[in-house]
Amino acid sequence: MQRGSGPFLYDLDGHEYVDYVLSWGALLQGHAYPPVVKAIVQAAGRGTSFGTPTEAESELGELIASMMPSIERIRFTSSGTEATMSAVRLARGYTGRDAIVKFAGCYHGHADAFLIAAGSGALTNGIPNSPGVTAGIARDTIVLPFNDAAAVSVAFDEHAARIAAVVVEPYAGNMGFVPPAPGFLRALRDRCDANGSLLIFDEVMTGFRVARGGAQQRTGIVPDLTTLGKVIGGGLPIGAFGGRADIMAELAPDGAVYQAGTLSGNPLAMAAGIAALRAIAADPTLYERLEVLAKLLCDGLAEVFTKHGIAQSSTYAGSMLCTFFNTEEVRDLDGALRSDTAAYAKYFHAMLDRGIYIAPSQFESMFVSAAHTTREIERTIAAADESLAQLVAVAAR
Ligand SMILES: *Cc1c(COP(=O)(O)O)cnc(C)c1O
Repeated sequence: MQRGSGPFLYDLDGHEYVDYVLSWGALLQGHAYPPVVKAIVQAAGRGTSFGTPTEAESELGELIASMMPSIERIRFTSSGTEATMSAVRLARGYTGRDAIVKFAGCYHGHADAFLIAAGSGALTNGIPNSPGVTAGIARDTIVLPFNDAAAVSVAFDEHAARIAAVVVEPYAGNMGFVPPAPGFLRALRDRCDANGSLLIFDEVMTGFRVARGGAQQRTGIVPDLTTLGKVIGGGLPIGAFGGRADIMAELAPDGAVYQAGTLSGNPLAMAAGIAALRAIAADPTLYERLEVLAKLLCDGLAEVFTKHGIAQSSTYAGSMLCTFFNTEEVRDLDGALRSDTAAYAKYFHAMLDRGIYIAPSQFESMFVSAAHTTREIERTIAAADESLAQLVAVAAR
């Protein structure tokens, strides 16, 4: 790709694409959003890194906390991977326990402890259990099926004394888009409370995507720690983790759990993030508009799939959605894996040929931005109509 503008990407040959990947969800306002670009340019003129805190770091932290009140203290990193890795280290240090519970198909970045039954690119490329991750690390990672409260109960009965934390994408966005079943997140909260384990919501993707205050606002379930990334950096490298003040106080230099980063809280990323989050804070109807667009697209796609006799099941919440080539509702990784990925691949290319860029994998979410309008949605549904007609015609040959 050569450049982006609003909801569009342009490749080196000058083709225009409606972008539903949006840097894997980071660009809530679309490409080259003028206030973000301006903020980056201005910050760059004042120096790009100091290795010491800046006012902008406090301002971005306060903006986040104002919309996500469970964040009593926060620390910035340069990626979502570092945020989740550090949050788990903190949970282990705080509880004095070794094991974490994660869910198959959830992706928490590429730190070792998470590359066991991982989603996103690891899943797409067939390496959910990466070589290079030691057996010792695997032993401390308990993997359970997403949306399965009974499995959580059994795991706690067996491993209670070892479980430092449960880490979950509250809406799973890296095996397609799979919302939590009613009661699932509540069950996690209750088991963690009863056992003195911490509940970590990985909202690197869902934060400022499924609602202004993330999945925790949408579901009313409050985690002990939250990890963030993507949207909060306005398209620059960023991550953050935060939550209960008493837990965050265990971090060095206040506490003994070490965490650091030369470029963490980087002034350019802070400036971009402030511009992005100020736009969110100033727009009271933003998330309703985004969800109207997501639903319009989701329903429109479902309609053309049905018209062409192709089975689908779809999901949406806030600015995220997914169409599975699947006959059943997807609740977990096993369900996602029953999707027809060969058909998805053909659909991806047919859409790309028609100027629509969706993720090149069934196991990713689609994102809409504040820059998308009903015009782009209609164009997308028309392209899907043609693409599916082509798939059906080729299959019949
Ligand atoms: C993208 C993502 C990460 C990793 O963030 P990076 O910035 O790519 O390191 C972690 N968790 C979730 C849920 C993500 O979607």
